[in-house]
Amino acid sequence: MGKAYYCDYCNRAFKDEVETRKKHISSVQHATNRTSHYNMFKDPETILTEESSKTPCKRYMNKGDCAFGSGCRFSHYTPSMIWELQQLVAMKNSKVSAVQPRDGWPNSEDIIKEYFENVIDPSGTEDLNHPVWSTTSGLVDNPYLPPSLQPIMSERTMNCNFSKWG
Ligand SMILES: [Zn+2]
Ligand SMILES: [Zn+2]
Repeated sequence: MGKAYYCDYCNRAFKDEVETRKKHISSVQHATNRTSHYNMFKDPETILTEESSKTPCKRYMNKGDCAFGSGCRFSHYTPSMIWELQQLVAMKNSKVSAVQPRDGWPNSEDIIKEYFENVIDPSGTEDLNHPVWSTTSGLVDNPYLPPSLQPIMSERTMNCNFSKWG
């Protein structure tokens, strides 16, 4: 086998001969792979326009499979996929506002309001007067503690003596 050519769409290597090339490029498999390759780069709007203009593929809808894959001239998109695409397009065109919350779903503003109402309890403000940390009483006047273990107390931090750096 001499030189080989590699088809990026199909992930396959072939003998580099004009006939083989021609045969491969005109094959259904290659057309399918090429289409699905480009479909990855299509934006949802293009797909939506294309798919909603096609008739649903009977074979795909009944059997869940169709040999033509994305090269099929009928649509393999189910109504729910079309719906999702529409949402995507709407979201892209006018940010999030176009997506209406479904019935019975809480919307984000309610969730945020509820969160703050529960977390910030207006009657709980006296809690702020408690010291941030509590000091274990047994440690306070223990003369044998190294400085690093001595409890931090506001009085001590106020009048501590800084030794000079030698
Ligand atoms: Zn190919
Ligand atoms: Zn089909």
